[in-house]
Amino acid sequence: MKNPWILPTEFPGELIAIDMHSHINHDVPDDSKKRFGYSADIEDLIVINRAAGIEKLFCCTFASCLNTDVIVEENAYMHSLLDQYDCLYQWVVIDPRIEETFTQAERMLQHKKCVGIKLHPDYHKYSLEEYADKLFSFASHFQAVVLIHPEKDASYILPIADKYPEVTFIMAHLGGEAYVDAVEFAVHKNVYTDTSGIASSTNLMVESAYQRIGADRILFGTDTYSAAFQRGRIEFALIPKEAKQKILRDNALRLFAKNLL
Ligand SMILES: [Zn+2]
Repeated sequence: MKNPWILPTEFPGELIAIDMHSHINHDVPDDSKKRFGYSADIEDLIVINRAAGIEKLFCCTFASCLNTDVIVEENAYMHSLLDQYDCLYQWVVIDPRIEETFTQAERMLQHKKCVGIKLHPDYHKYSLEEYADKLFSFASHFQAVVLIHPEKDASYILPIADKYPEVTFIMAHLGGEAYVDAVEFAVHKNVYTDTSGIASSTNLMVESAYQRIGADRILFGTDTYSAAFQRGRIEFALIPKEAKQKILRDNALRLFAKNLL
């Protein structure tokens, strides 16, 4: 399939960013079913990201976030793409009520391109606190990075993060003070946040977070929103150049060293 879009001849910045929070669709069988002005087809996302100087994407499928019935098959589908696309990395999705997702994760986390575990208590409709010990004793065993779309204020992770120092927690979609509290007050410094989605688009969100917690535990992601917009949000933020480089690339290289290096 040939892409009709026009690529800029040069990347906008000198560094190649890492999109650590994205998704793909695989349930859109033909172009006529795409939403006008939007695509989460992997072929499109690769081109869109490349135009914004983004080198790698860490994904799970949208379907695996939206529908608990298909998590197992969606994880398998996602995993099957890893050898096909150099730039593609996997978040393996676990639902604590589905045992097979744990066995899948145990196996998939051995793959160099499986970066960690994705939890979506919000869309999957469970209480993270209720299943915390089951989930994070498992994650702790693998010293896993866990990406969480929180179903309430992100600072609810603090007692859990303090109990499981071997786990790295990423609270997705920096969008308010509770995220900054979660990062700042974690005793073991094992809580991060990411800039994916549109919550970080408010005009001093990234800047206010930087003022309190610095840049070391803020990661860059798109969540499939325009990569040009998402990268621009960081490139033109009122923070030092070194902080931008950490957010766009260096923090991910450090945190996911075993996957990326
Ligand atoms: Zn997401």
